Amino acid sequence: NTAVVLYTSDLRVHDHPPLRAALSSSDRIVPLFVRDRAIADSGFAAPNRLAFLADCLADLDAALRERGGRLVLRSGDVVAEVCALVQEADADEVHMAAGVSAYARTREERLRQALEAQGRRLYTHDTVVTAVAPGAVVPSGSGADHFSVFTPYLRRWTELPQRAVAAAPRRVRVPEDIGSEELPRRAAVTGTSPGLARGGEHEARRLLADWLRSGITRYEDIHDDLAADATSRLSPHLHFGTLSPTEAVQRSAAVGGAGAEAFVRQLCWRDFHHQVLAARPGAATADYRTRHDHWRTGPAAEEELQAWKDGRTGYPVVDAAMRQLSHEGWVHNRGRLLVASFLAKSLYVDWRAGARHFLDLLVDGDVANNQLNWQWVAGTGTDTRPNRVLNPVRQGIRYDPDGRYVHRWVPELAGLPAPRVHEPWRLPGTERARYDYPPPLVELADALDRFRQARPGA
Ligand code: FAD
Repeated sequence: NTAVVLYTSDLRVHDHPPLRAALSSSDRIVPLFVRDRAIADSGFAAPNRLAFLADCLADLDAALRERGGRLVLRSGDVVAEVCALVQEADADEVHMAAGVSAYARTREERLRQALEAQGRRLYTHDTVVTAVAPGAVVPSGSGADHFSVFTPYLRRWTELPQRAVAAAPRRVRVPEDIGSEELPRRAAVTGTSPGLARGGEHEARRLLADWLRSGITRYEDIHDDLAADATSRLSPHLHFGTLSPTEAVQRSAAVGGAGAEAFVRQLCWRDFHHQVLAARPGAATADYRTRHDHWRTGPAAEEELQAWKDGRTGYPVVDAAMRQLSHEGWVHNRGRLLVASFLAKSLYVDWRAGARHFLDLLVDGDVANNQLNWQWVAGTGTDTRPNRVLNPVRQGIRYDPDGRYVHRWVPELAGLPAPRVHEPWRLPGTERARYDYPPPLVELADALDRFRQARPGA
């Protein structure tokens, strides 16, 4: 008999419960990826992610071929394509990762019904996309369906026993008569960031192995140092599922020590946001907690939003991070925090505009992590101190003390040493004129007043 394995955000062969389940129930499988027309039409398919996805599909196909199989690619409506393939292959069952977003869950439900109507079954598997399934832990006694505060979630998440990591299968048999479209090529995607990372499970495993060998132990001490660039850069791999979060957690925890503990805590943030989104799908666009904001709109706000996107706000560390975003499709977490705070709390522009721009560029851009981190920073989300405002000058001095990060991304200021590089407007007139760099978009004191007046209770 035959089973279909429907790949979505889980493009790997290692530690893949749907693949293992299909191989244990059936002698032949069809590993399928559907280029979902709805996602392409939604504008969510940004070039950086499409290019990274092309790497991931090529690598998954290669890994399946090493095992005697191959990847089957189709395009269109996922439900229609799976149903057609199930008939073509005369498959009895379909296995896939359980989804988290509203879109993924609706798709899953439609698929379940369509397959049942054909007398076939859909099996969804938890702990493929997250290490702990959304809803697996809930606050005890309160009746709440999810955690809205991170620390108690972390406590429960840490205590929960995890399933064992599953090895990659040795052999995969795919029926020969099942046709596939040609896999997309990264080189064919236009509009990508020049410094975009490479995708694929091999790359993910190489990065993880290097990270566990030499990066993780220093993580606690230097992860916030912008210039050191000392984080794992595993986020796009976790987003596309070329790395299993369960495996990442367990292998990191096994290293032990403060660095590993701090790193596993960050992986828990990922699960935390996923369980919020699963319980409150509307939080992808609506405020998780309304602060009755009257976000600025109109031409001045539009211009400031554009200057922020272009990395020309006049605040060097903000501009450095925005330029890293457009150059790499990725930014250091500290950079994301400070640019998001600057947009939402200093310019007081709606967080949704910033989140949209991030999603247009981020290679790891995902609804749970992006929207809920934006909400966290904007103070409409799960931050227990929603009105704190990050000062970009102090952030620069603290997290880029010798100015190397600014020098790297804002070359106009390369000759200016720290700490002065974080406040170029303070230079005496003649010296200031030497630098072709814009004046600050807003005075920080004015921005703070504006924020406090506009947000009731801030
Ligand atoms: P590391 O520091 O090595 O952390 C390891 C992993 O932990 C990350 O790969 C990620 O999966 C997870 N992680 C770390 N911090 C967070 C966090 N705050 N929330 C959730 N998971 C976390 N992350 C995304 O994956 N996709 C996004 O779209 C995204 N948008 C963000 C938007 C804003 C405004 C902010 C403040 C943060 C956002 N993050 C997002 C979280 C975080 O910035 C990135 O996960 C991290 O910078 C990725 O780099 P890394 O893999 O080197 O992280």
